Amino acid sequence: MSKGLDTICVQGCYEPGDGEARVVPIVQSTTFKYNSAETLGKLFDLQASGFFYTRLANPTLDAVEKKIAALEGGVGAMLTSSGQAASMMAITNICRAGDHVVCASAIYGGTFNLFHKTLRELGIDFTFMKPSATEEEVMAAFKPNTKAVFTETLTNASLVVTDIEMYARCAHSHNVPLIVDNTFPTPINCRPFEFGADIVTHSTSKYMDGHAVALGGAIVDSGNFDWNSGNFPMLTEPDETYHGTVYTEAFGKAAYITKARTHLMRDMGAQAAPMNAFLLNLGLETLHLRVPRHCANALALAKFLESSDKIAWVNYPGLESNKYYELAKKYMPNGTSGVVSFGVKGGREKAAKLMESLKLAAMVIHVADLRTSVLHPASTTHRQMTDEQLEDCGVSPDMIRLSVGLEDIDDLLADFKQALDQI
Ligand SMILES: *Cc1c(COP(=O)(O)O)cnc(C)c1O
Repeated sequence: MSKGLDTICVQGCYEPGDGEARVVPIVQSTTFKYNSAETLGKLFDLQASGFFYTRLANPTLDAVEKKIAALEGGVGAMLTSSGQAASMMAITNICRAGDHVVCASAIYGGTFNLFHKTLRELGIDFTFMKPSATEEEVMAAFKPNTKAVFTETLTNASLVVTDIEMYARCAHSHNVPLIVDNTFPTPINCRPFEFGADIVTHSTSKYMDGHAVALGGAIVDSGNFDWNSGNFPMLTEPDETYHGTVYTEAFGKAAYITKARTHLMRDMGAQAAPMNAFLLNLGLETLHLRVPRHCANALALAKFLESSDKIAWVNYPGLESNKYYELAKKYMPNGTSGVVSFGVKGGREKAAKLMESLKLAAMVIHVADLRTSVLHPASTTHRQMTDEQLEDCGVSPDMIRLSVGLEDIDDLLADFKQALDQI
């Protein structure tokens, strides 16, 4: 019987036997013992499943992977050492030199750099679509060598709510999968597979961990995409490094995620550490409680900022004045995230003064954890971008990104009130 998301968060996908640890244990071992050479051989040939080396699989990671797959409603998941590694592997699992990806431009700065510079240098090309792109414009961006579409469900930092169904239509009419980064809403607020996405990625470093203690990433496979169009020989033709295994034949619906692990993780090795997977699991156990509270606090603070005459603009998809309010109601009806952005009248200088005057909200290079924080993207996370690139990804020079935490909302409001009084 399938369980509710709250139950999956608390104790999903880990069932201890008699006398075993109640809490998912940290299996701090790189290696696992076998008595028979034949069994070990079968593991190597992918004819049996089991643990033999932590770069490929580990019991702590396995439990957390299954939990995240269940939360998203997918057939399998793979943890990675960071969100960056998840984005990198999600693309390179199905794209080779000479291939092309249609990608939203308003994505996280780190992902943009990875695609625009590093993956381009490796021969994979990208066409970046502005948030205002219509369905016709997205359709026109496809080329004969397009192998995937990539976007974020709720973009970091510009808070664009993506029309997931529209992107899925465009991808599927070209026989390629839609890959979405669902870091900000988390599966508590948005389950992209229900709207046609095929692969989901996460930076688990954000709300999933939620306490700002462990970097991590995840890739989740819906199992819904049909790889047999001839577009994906890496999945439908023999892999000689596994004695000619054909992933789609041997692993069916889990072909993509199995290949990500047995091929890419084997060769590239960006595995999450068991200790980090354990910490991530502690975060996941309360995700269903924390996310709604982040959203409630964020909405209250966004409304307060909107009412201040010292604030030029407020961007929060939960505000009725927001351009993405309707899309947010459709794709994230219970709330978007705890991230709000706003501009201070008087630009850069006043923005800096406001940030320095805040006492509870700290200036940090992080978002989406339980402590309220502020950041000026144009001079930090997005500083390597040109003004034009900044504009394309929805970041203006006066923008402050506010990540609303789980403190008492009255204390947060008082903190912003006193800081605004000082500018
Ligand atoms: C932070 C972030 C990433 C990168 O994740 P790391 O864990 O920092 O490597 C990718 N996508 C989004 C939307 C993010 O917010």
